[in-house]
Parts: sequence; C-alpha cells; structure tokens
Amino acid sequence: MGMTKYRTFKIMNDNKSNIKNEVENNPEEEVLLTSLRAKAWNEFFGQKNIKEALKIAITAAKKRGEALEHVLLYGPPGLGKTTLCHLIAKEMGSNIRVTSGPAIERAGDLASILTNLEKGDILFIDEIHRLNKVVEETLYPAMEDYCLDIIIGKGPSARTLRLDLPQFTIVGATTRVGLLSAPLRDRFGVVHRLTFYDPSDLESIVSRASEKLKAVIDKDSIKEIAKRARGTPRIALKLLKRARDFASVKGEGKITNDLTNEALKMLEVDPLGLDESDRRLLLSIIEKHNGGPVGVETVASTIAEDIGTIEEVLEPYLLQIGFIKRTPRGRIATKLAYQHLNKSYPHENKNQQKFL
Ligand code: ADP
Repeated sequence: MGMTKYRTFKIMNDNKSNIKNEVENNPEEEVLLTSLRAKAWNEFFGQKNIKEALKIAITAAKKRGEALEHVLLYGPPGLGKTTLCHLIAKEMGSNIRVTSGPAIERAGDLASILTNLEKGDILFIDEIHRLNKVVEETLYPAMEDYCLDIIIGKGPSARTLRLDLPQFTIVGATTRVGLLSAPLRDRFGVVHRLTFYDPSDLESIVSRASEKLKAVIDKDSIKEIAKRARGTPRIALKLLKRARDFASVKGEGKITNDLTNEALKMLEVDPLGLDESDRRLLLSIIEKHNGGPVGVETVASTIAEDIGTIEEVLEPYLLQIGFIKRTPRGRIATKLAYQHLNKSYPHENKNQQKFL
C-alpha cells in the first residue's frame, strides 16, 4: 500500500526534473548557436520539400483544430532538426517541451512529462533512438490513443491505471533512424530525412548569421566558409565564428578572404571541408588497412575513435562525397579519397576492384 502511494506521488510530483535542455559538450558554443537559431521560416534556408510538407501538415491540423501528427526528423547532426521543431511549435502556436531519449530513464519519468502537457503541446525528444524498451512501450499507447497505462503496485496485487492525456505532438529527432524499432517508427505520421545542404543555401545561412552577429564579411569569405562546412549549417556557423575571432585578433575586425583562409588553415579544415578526424579515418583505411574493406570496429580501434562518432558524424559526409563506400565486408576508401590525400591508388589490389 505504501508502495502504491509512493508511486502515485512520484508520478504527480516528479515533474520536469528529467527534462533537460539539449545536452551539448560545449556550452559556450551552444549559447552562440542558440542565439543564431532561425526564429522564423524565412530564416530557415534550404530543405524546401520538408518545409513545404511541414507547413501543409501544420495548416491542415490547425484547420481541423487538432494536434499535429507526430513528426520524426532524422539525419546527421547539425542539419536543423532542433530548429525545425522550434519552428513547428511556433507555427502551431504551441508550447514546446524539450527532452532526450537517455534523459527519460523510467516509465514514471515519461508519465510525469506527459501528464504535465497541455492540449496541442509539442514534446521534442532528441536522440529518440536511445529510449529504453520499457519507456518506449509506454509511449506507444500515448502516441496512438493519447492515454497512458500505469502499473500500480507489484506482484499479484498490481493494477493498471489508465490515464487520459491531452492531444499532443511528439517531434522525435535522431541521427540513427536504423536503430529505431519498427513499431516506434510506424507511430510517426510525418517522417522526414534531412540532407546535407548545398553551398548556396549555406551561403545564405552564413550571410544571415553574420548580419545577426553584426560581423562585416566579404562575399568571398561567405563562399569559402559555405564550401568548407561539410554541408552542415552548424559547422558553417562555427567556422564563421572562428573567422570572426581571427579577424578581430589578426586583422581589423572585417572578415576578409585572406583572414578566412588563414583561420581555416589554422583549424586544419582542408579545401573540401574535411578536418583532422576525417583525414585520420581515411588515412587509417588507406595506410593501415590497404584501402579496405575493413570493419568499422577495427577502424575505430585503430584511430581510437568512438564507433558512434564514426558512423553518425564522420561517415555520412564521406559517403556523400564518395570518399568511402560501404560494402558487406566493411568500408573501403575510393579512388577520390586517395587522390585527395595525394596517395597513389593501388589498381592491382583485387579487393578494391571487386567492390569499385
Ligand atoms: P540538429 O538538431 O539537427 O543537430 P540544429 O537545429 O541544432 O541541428 O542546428 C544547428 C545550428 O544550425 C543552429 O544554430 C541552427 O539555427 C542552424 N541551422 C540549422 N539548419 C538551418 C537552416 N536550414 N537555416 C538556417 N540555420 C540553420
């Protein structure tokens, strides 16, 4: 009986304690990025199809007077998933609550979050692929029927209590959609994959951000930063900030092309936007593993890098620009990668030919 009370109490009062704002490694950088976050659709460049589709879904939901269907956004980090979620909430005129998969440890945590939502609220769950199984299963009826089954007590005396929830919308974000279970994926009515940005969209992003930062920057520098940002707005904004710092220390504040190039050189960002980690990954495949095929675990231990970082952060862009390929036997470095790193390409290597 005491247990029952305790549990009920927890559910009613353990509110918000587990709702964390985005967890980032570098708080200072995050403050800057938050201040630069697109606050309106016209500041969110590129991804035209996604924007269009979301606007239609939002308008339709508003017309029906219902909550928006649950939305799943996936793609590499820094492409705008969080920003889109904030824009969706703004357009819906809804409150937004932010949490992440690993922050919701128990079903009770989820229950406290959900029971505190109001009609139409948006719950953003970052890294949704990291929800644990029990929490995920509690989420199914909540997403489908807006209700929550809570088990009170233990053993033979355990009872299930069904709580009705207000209509709400989950916006889930993930860099690893493949790790989402099919039942969870199926409960999202709107699913979008964010792709790397064209340099022209990145130019617009850098240009708008420099206005916001009141930074004076020339056209060539904007172009250069956009070109070297690995198709990623977050990286473009970080490079802009570095160039601005560099210009204020080494120059007279104006971000010129020469200063931008020097700053990029100092950051070891090469003309294609690859940095030291990318090159270390490629060189390890080429020099230590004969160009591959090599399993990701082996590469990870060779370069002492985390497998997750390789798969989520480094590889997507290298795959996109055709520097590596995935084969059933592992990763291989392509001829383009050899050329970029000034390595002679071993034509006679049978493994290579088989897969190229
Ligand atoms: P994700 O959640 O996918 O990791 P974020 O939404 O946090 O990415 O975006 C990272 C940064 O890049 C933010 O400062 C955001 O404002 C900016 N950004 C992302 N996409 C765009 C875009 N399409 N237009 C303008 N800025 C963008």
